[in-house]
Amino acid sequence: MADKSSIEWTEATWNPVTGCDRVSSGCDNCYALTLSKRLKAMGAEKYQNDGDPRTSGPGFGVTTHQGALDQPRRWRAPRVVFVNSMSDLFHAKVPIAFVKDVFDVMRETPQHTYQILTKRSLRLSRMAEKLDWPTNVWMGVSVEDASALERVDHLRTVPAAVRFLSCEPLIGPLDGIDLHDIGWVIAGGESGANYRVMDINWARGIRDDCRDAGVPFFFKQWGGRTPKQLGRELDGRLWDEMPRRAV
Ligand code: SF4
Repeated sequence: MADKSSIEWTEATWNPVTGCDRVSSGCDNCYALTLSKRLKAMGAEKYQNDGDPRTSGPGFGVTTHQGALDQPRRWRAPRVVFVNSMSDLFHAKVPIAFVKDVFDVMRETPQHTYQILTKRSLRLSRMAEKLDWPTNVWMGVSVEDASALERVDHLRTVPAAVRFLSCEPLIGPLDGIDLHDIGWVIAGGESGANYRVMDINWARGIRDDCRDAGVPFFFKQWGGRTPKQLGRELDGRLWDEMPRRAV
């Protein structure tokens, strides 16, 4: 599968784990779940393991791929890499030994910058002290609405060089969110046939909180039936701010 990514805030994807289970309302229209079903039907080797039909689906059973671990070592030129766009590295079914293997690869390929995103923030916070955090790893949590704010507190305990939030799909207001010790915020609306409309004031609220806290803000998209349908300008301009990279 191609490793280049169309996601605006990264350059490549690396999926040493595939498959997941829905955990919160942000997962309702999970694109990875839908895509895995299609990849299974196409015969893609990594997507043949089915998950629980109540929370997962065809081709979306949690599976670790030892053979995919070395992929970033073959990329000579530096890349910004989104880790596990098709899974959640901190899912309970991913053994800690495998998570450590992933961290070993990231540490041993310092030319790349890695972005990890999870909704399993409690497991992340419990595991964090057992992991060795290289400076090229950015750790983020998804925050789709105020019911997910606990994830931000869990993230604050993690000694990553950059801690970031992905407020996408944004399905509720987050006004007044506490951004201390947070180094980057991404926000965006949902896309796909069943997309939930994002209120402009929810996006403005996060942008203004970022401005007040001095935190870089990245506005990814409005969402709609397709990701690009409604563009990605907010109040007449693009918001493509990125965190300062650790040295
Ligand atoms: S945690 Fe992410 S990958 Fe897993 S079901 Fe939810 S949206 Fe999909």
